[in-house]
Amino acid sequence: MPKISKTKSAPKLAHKTHEAPHVQEDAGAKKHPRTPQLVRGMKDILPYETPWWDLLYARVADIGVSYGFERIETPVVEETALFARSIGKDTDIVEKEMYAITDTEGEKLVLRPENTASIVRAYINHGMLNLTQPVKLWYWGPMFRHERPQSGRYRQFHQFGFEVLGDESPIVDAELILIAYNVYKNLGINTSIQINSIGCGKCRGAYHQSLIAYYRTVRHEMCENCRRRLQKNPLRALDCKEPQCQPLKKDAPHFVDYLCEPCKEHFLSVLEYLDELELPYFLNHSLVRGLDYYNRTVFELYAAGEEEGSQSALGGGGRYDGLAEILGGRPTPACGFAQGCERAILKMKEIEALKPPADIVHIFVAQIGNQAKSKALKLFENLRAAGITVAHNLSKNGLRPQLEIANKLGVRYSLVIGQKEVQDETVIIRDMESGGQESIGFNKAANDLKKKLGLS
Ligand code: AMP
Repeated sequence: MPKISKTKSAPKLAHKTHEAPHVQEDAGAKKHPRTPQLVRGMKDILPYETPWWDLLYARVADIGVSYGFERIETPVVEETALFARSIGKDTDIVEKEMYAITDTEGEKLVLRPENTASIVRAYINHGMLNLTQPVKLWYWGPMFRHERPQSGRYRQFHQFGFEVLGDESPIVDAELILIAYNVYKNLGINTSIQINSIGCGKCRGAYHQSLIAYYRTVRHEMCENCRRRLQKNPLRALDCKEPQCQPLKKDAPHFVDYLCEPCKEHFLSVLEYLDELELPYFLNHSLVRGLDYYNRTVFELYAAGEEEGSQSALGGGGRYDGLAEILGGRPTPACGFAQGCERAILKMKEIEALKPPADIVHIFVAQIGNQAKSKALKLFENLRAAGITVAHNLSKNGLRPQLEIANKLGVRYSLVIGQKEVQDETVIIRDMESGGQESIGFNKAANDLKKKLGLS
């Protein structure tokens, strides 16, 4: 058996680069077809990243179970009207960011830009009103917005979210904020909460008038979009991301000064619950969450120290008591939030408070020769059934390249099957640290290794 030099610490498996290979122009040579490229704003989640995604998913799912939420999955494709009616026609999302599809039957569809409207649609479609209220749902999945791609901002991105339908009490708002806060806390990420109330249809009229009056005085300093939308939807100005509109927000009137009695009471109760829970929140008077369906409580979570500039919110949410009716359902008070997975993972990697566990491979099975290959496959199954994690590479024939892989994986033992072992019904156990080897009966290998690895 050839000697293999051992590396003390197993080197990391190299990751391939993902740049398109440079094709050299050669007159007369056959041209390679162009490799289709990743679509702008889309992102491949590569194998070295998926453990982070799995970790986030597992933590979110855990929180879902512990707070009594059930998971729901709605389709990525929805009717255009679902979002036009709920998010609002004069929002950036509906005006210019939706991925529109017209299918072969001429039906106007879109790739969902968010999930709350879909969940309310599902709640109505499936008569969830008849279930015990409130209905508590959580989700995870891809969303699509045709935005300008920039760091951490994609055209396909993922969100997880929690929604409570069928309860108007302020404790629901507080519990949802607590859940969002705890998701990050469990990931080792400190967050701060920004909160505001944008009242209801009754108190909004007076506030709108006062907001329009204020913005008229600074009209010449506003971006074109805000000027255009001012009369119809002045709240948009508070939500605008344009740099020129930022300084204008600080002198704008505050919604909390215009809340009607029931809205004021509701908001004060939410804040009292947050105080009771000792959650770190700040009142942000310009927080309005930009979508038409929100009312009363709105909130956003920021990684601690990154509160400035709404581009960096980890996520947010609020009440949407009127959404079910807008979509043709019965009145159903509701509240929820959505958090961006890409941003959460970016933060998890930055902080490194929590890392995905390294894949543990116990054993490598190496084979020499064709007969040994099929025997190795059988052995592989025996080991797997015994709860041993096994790696192999049946595409390699020589022993040296196979043991090199075993070294890179950092396994403690390799099993080797050659011609002789096939005939003798044995396998060789090689200790990768000492280089020592012993022969053992084929059928005893799994049990013996379990003992050696301390698995039995
Ligand atoms: P929103 O529904 O716009 O409030 O988004 C909630 C969260 O989803 C944001 O705070 C981000 O974390 C995330 N998010 C929204 N849009 C994008 C995007 N284009 N790319 C990546 N994450 C996004």
